[in-house]
Amino acid sequence: MNVETVKTWLDLFTDEVNQNKEYLSELDTPIGDGDHGMNMARGTTAVKEVIAEKNPTTLVDIFKLTGMTLVSKVGGASGPLYGSAFISMAKAAGETDDLGELLAAGLAGIQKRGKAEVGEKTMVDVWQPVVEAVQKNELTSKVIQDAVEGTKEIKATKGRASYLGDRSIGHIDPGAMSSGYLFEAMLKAGV
Ligand code: ADP
Ligand code: MG
Ligand code: MG
Repeated sequence: MNVETVKTWLDLFTDEVNQNKEYLSELDTPIGDGDHGMNMARGTTAVKEVIAEKNPTTLVDIFKLTGMTLVSKVGGASGPLYGSAFISMAKAAGETDDLGELLAAGLAGIQKRGKAEVGEKTMVDVWQPVVEAVQKNELTSKVIQDAVEGTKEIKATKGRASYLGDRSIGHIDPGAMSSGYLFEAMLKAGV
């Protein structure tokens, strides 16, 4: 992994989020407040701009800049969570450039902040199986899509969707979907 492939990854993620921002907000409407697409589009667009402007040259710097920008621009619950993921990845990047280890650090950052475990209908339900697959060198688009789809059947016990109890069942979690875009972009970029 190097800085150039990470830049490509983040640019593709931004494009994917912007192309699907209405859909992300639609997913957030029945089980949330309908802003996830706007939040993520604002945040990823800011990331793309700040990377072009500051031109970071190390993994530590690009992940840190991304994390700090997401925290300040995304807002909501997902901003601090995605922000923690990238800031934790920046810390880990001082020691390793192994993708599995970096993503595991990102997941740990999300869980440290949000306290969600697998099975609570959050982005963790995508991050966890993706980390596991990357560590076994088995990540495919299908692994990602199955994890995203899998959130449909889960009853939410964290985040806004948890206010709905059983009525949260039957809907894909918006943060799981945006995390799906993150990892599809990672595959596409060949990170
Ligand atoms: P808000 O709910 O504040 O409007 P967003 O709509 O941007 O924020 O993000 C909602 C997403 O955040 C959810 O779909 C879920 O994936 C994620 N999320 C919420 N709470 C948690 C948590 N405690 N741990 C992990 N992810 C969470
Ligand atoms: Mg929302
Ligand atoms: Mg909100």
